[in-house]
Amino acid sequence: MNMNSPSTDNKPLRIVIVGAGVAGCIVARSLARCAGVEVTCLERVARDDHSEAGTGLNIGPNAIKLLRAHDPALADAVAAASLPWQSWRTSLTDGTELFRLPLSEVADNDGVRIRWSELYRVLRDSAGGAVRYGVTVSDISRGADGRCRLSYTADGETVDLDGIDLLIGADGRYSDTRRALSGAPQMRQVGVAIFRLLVPDTSAGLIDDYEQWFNGPHRLLAFRVPPGHIYMAGTFPLKAGDEIADADKSAAALRRYYLPAHGEPGAQCAWLVDTLCRNVGAIHWARLQETEAGYRDGDAPLLYLGDAAHGMVPTLGQGATQAIEDGCVAAALIAGRLAAGSRDVGEWLHAFDAARSERIRFVMDFSLEASDTLFAGSDPVAGALKKMQPPFRAKLSRLYRDVAPAGVKDSAATEARP
Ligand SMILES: Cc1cc2nc3c(=O)[nH]c(=O)nc-3n(C[C@H](O)[C@H](O)[C@H](O)COP(=O)(O)OP(=O)(O)OC[C@H]3O[C@@H](n4cnc5c(N)ncnc54)[C@H](O)[C@@H]3O)c2cc1C
Repeated sequence: MNMNSPSTDNKPLRIVIVGAGVAGCIVARSLARCAGVEVTCLERVARDDHSEAGTGLNIGPNAIKLLRAHDPALADAVAAASLPWQSWRTSLTDGTELFRLPLSEVADNDGVRIRWSELYRVLRDSAGGAVRYGVTVSDISRGADGRCRLSYTADGETVDLDGIDLLIGADGRYSDTRRALSGAPQMRQVGVAIFRLLVPDTSAGLIDDYEQWFNGPHRLLAFRVPPGHIYMAGTFPLKAGDEIADADKSAAALRRYYLPAHGEPGAQCAWLVDTLCRNVGAIHWARLQETEAGYRDGDAPLLYLGDAAHGMVPTLGQGATQAIEDGCVAAALIAGRLAAGSRDVGEWLHAFDAARSERIRFVMDFSLEASDTLFAGSDPVAGALKKMQPPFRAKLSRLYRDVAPAGVKDSAATEARP
């Protein structure tokens, strides 16, 4: 099939989504309610397998704004499983406050704080029967007619899916779909180690909304997530490409990195470092990296969403946030086109790319710019001051408020009400 030619027969269009994570669930839920398509979403893990359960997420006001416009019921379900994210406070680890930013100054609505496992539970519940769990996907390729095909095995049975009119790779940062069809994207280490830990809240109210603490370029971050947990993460500079040494993962290193060299730590930092050191074996370690962004591959009937399209540095908490934006825009756009009788998948993909590419470039660049205080030799005080100046705040406002082009907002609003 030539992707530039609309399908002419009346058979339902076959749409296959690989991955029922953040973006995949949002698209599967919306498209399952559309006439004229046969939607299959294939997920590797079992429905209740939340392998990233040890993580909390702060989801930006931008994602919540778009989700509410696109799918108010789903936005309500996410809100019910989360706490509002209303402020961003930054201090030194001795407790000296550098800035406190109420998000209402740069956003139209709150963001949310949520456990990753809870977000997956809500999204997977909402996608209902559209998702097949516990499958092994194989042989992802393109046929002679240009359309994609794949096989999957579930419960000992193998199913071949040929003649896929649109394949959506929503299978995360190490996307097999993107690797099989477009080649692995280039990954770039940016020179920062990162770790995370989720613990029961024993802070007696010391930790609540989103805060960061700096000791030179070494940064801690923490916030409370329901039910009754504190999520904390830390970063320190690392030579780009180097592995994190075992010595850097020890309680002694954590104390050295985060406790002020002179004077006492603030009460929050003292609790965080103490808790980290008591749970040092449970900490998850990673490195900050970016992947080359790409939603499409030439004229192929293929769309990558979320981390499969753009792995970004997590400094502004925009990974899941952008996966939600991608999912809402893709779902609204495709549902709107289907409702208008369009079967021209090539045109849909062109429109999606036009709606999202510039936005995602901006978000990735801004996330990297906001990482300035994490690199070796950086000055957190100067960096914090810069973040309170008009240029940075204008970018935050653009990030949190300018969520979608007008055409997408219109089709989102139409599609959300069956
Ligand atoms: C420690 C940490 C902290 C983070 N903090 C934040 C934060 O505060 N705010 C924020 O917005 N983002 C944050 N992120 C990023 C965020 O979690 C991701 O960007 C987001 O989950 C991406 O969503 P996605 O839909 O693209 O992919 P995912 O949510 O990763 O979903 C991909 C899905 O595809 C499935 N899958 C993978 N391969 C296959 C296959 N071959 N076949 C079938 N299924 C497959 C996976 O099992 C998974 O269910 C954080 C990430 C990490 C690691």
